[in-house]
Amino acid sequence: MKKYSHAWLALMAIKRLDDNKKDLKPADQEHADSLVTWLMNHKDDVMQGAWYPDELIKDMADKHVLKFAPADKAPTGTISYPPDKFRPLPPEYLIFQYGQDSPVRQQNFNVVDPKDNLPDRCESLAESVIDHLKVLNHVEKGSPVTPTSNQVALWFFMLSHYIAGAHVPVHCDSRRFSEGKNIHGEMEKVWDDEINIYYKLNTQKTRFLYDSTGYPKPAVDFAADRSYQQSFLKAVVDELAKRKFDFSFGGANNNVWDFMNAVCHNSYLVSYRFFPPQYGPDNVTMENLKNLAAPALSINQVSAAVLADAIDSIARVWFRIWRRYEEWENKQKQD
Ligand SMILES: [Zn+2]
Repeated sequence: MKKYSHAWLALMAIKRLDDNKKDLKPADQEHADSLVTWLMNHKDDVMQGAWYPDELIKDMADKHVLKFAPADKAPTGTISYPPDKFRPLPPEYLIFQYGQDSPVRQQNFNVVDPKDNLPDRCESLAESVIDHLKVLNHVEKGSPVTPTSNQVALWFFMLSHYIAGAHVPVHCDSRRFSEGKNIHGEMEKVWDDEINIYYKLNTQKTRFLYDSTGYPKPAVDFAADRSYQQSFLKAVVDELAKRKFDFSFGGANNNVWDFMNAVCHNSYLVSYRFFPPQYGPDNVTMENLKNLAAPALSINQVSAAVLADAIDSIARVWFRIWRRYEEWENKQKQD
């Protein structure tokens, strides 16, 4: 994914928490409220922070991906799992629903490179956020070991980058879609271009402009614009509007690591549904995408699923780590 997509997803995750906190129990509503307030104080830094992993850190080769292949197509000596090891996601997830009909759903699947570690990256950043919040609020201000809240915001936004990346189907598929016709880059460009068309950026393009509610400002009248009605960005907003906010990770997924593995498994399944087994980097283009063998999904369906689920996942992970920190904080006050 590219720069505007990452920033937009993070801002839409804040909006999701804000719009849907009413779905939570009262104590959890308070956690959501304080998290939204905290994140909104740092929203001008989203564009930079959520882009650092690509721009500065550049750990794309192993930490933005977790790639799988069907066992019969995997390199020899790689670890194989039976299909009952696919981790489920919450049932409302579109990538979970689409993955059920994947042509590789009943086949063994292999991890193709033991160095891939996207779930580990997310788990470690999530724990760092909690640790930093604890230190931030308990070590005397001005002490050389105290982080600033800007630094903690940077970890939050970087974490959103890796979470979003797991939802990109080709990040979890060992077929080399960044080579040949580069459908990987082409699809990510479609998402960034669409966001650039329908939302307003400042003139330097360093941040989104905000509407009266404080969230990214539409560039067109959403209710009246005909082309927006057909956009997958509208489908994303509609999908999330009908989805209650729930912060479970699905199935037996207990922590961020489990959850991100589940996302990667389902991304892989969706990738094989979108690009059926006979396709690869040299024979899929933006032009022939519509005509790939059934059972295929349209690019609009895949785009809406990836972006809506990514927003939901960022909101879930952020909420859970913030809640863990605040519950710890409340306990400190009682002791
Ligand atoms: Zn990518």
